[in-house]
Amino acid sequence: MSIIVALDAKSQIDALKIAEQLDPALCRLKIGKELFTHEGPSVVKALHNKGFEIFLDLKFHDIPNTTAQAVCAAADMGVWMVNVHASGGRKMMETCVERLKAGNYNTQLIAVTVLTSMGREDLVDLGLNVEPSEHVKRLATLTKESGLDGVVCSAQEAKMLRTTLGTHFSLITPGIRPEGTSADDQKRIVTPQQAMLNGATHLVIGRPITQSDNPCQTLRNILATL
Ligand code: C5P
Repeated sequence: MSIIVALDAKSQIDALKIAEQLDPALCRLKIGKELFTHEGPSVVKALHNKGFEIFLDLKFHDIPNTTAQAVCAAADMGVWMVNVHASGGRKMMETCVERLKAGNYNTQLIAVTVLTSMGREDLVDLGLNVEPSEHVKRLATLTKESGLDGVVCSAQEAKMLRTTLGTHFSLITPGIRPEGTSADDQKRIVTPQQAMLNGATHLVIGRPITQSDNPCQTLRNILATL
């Protein structure tokens, strides 16, 4: 079990301010689209220099060649983990895995299944007359068959996915809130301990850590519950 702190900062300066209050021996960091679009590879380099391993959460989705080249570009930066949309399909995901292997990269590749912002009606709009959880299961199975290392999922889906997909598959879960902390804008929250019991392997936690008075102590407190 490990913790990935979601930086969700707008600038490299803000990202470094948060990182300086954390310990690379205790967590990894997640860089998303906003921070990366503002700052580019320089923020990855700056955080690597501080000793942190990085999950580059850019959710690539394109034709197989373009996606695989983007994944390899992320691997070239030395990131620990990068992700794609599973709805890009088997060929796209397999091509990414093949290129990573051919390049001798050890970057972890995971996929996003159904965005948690999408409900049943949103899937119907896309011509998918299926329950979101059913579609999550289908895309996660496809992700595993395509040779990726895991999926991002809600901690509530983790239990079902762990049962369906077996043990050797990473489940990266956001929407985590320690007992007694604010839910912020998250709708369905799960405690770190419950997420772990549900089968999560990596917890993505942002504001409960980054906005606390003492981020490192908060991180230690969470780790102590696992
Ligand atoms: O601050 P908080 O703990 O809510 O941050 C959660 C992080 O995980 C954010 O970066 C958010 O974008 C991301 N995320 C999420 N729910 C998903 C996928 C990603 O909260 N389904």
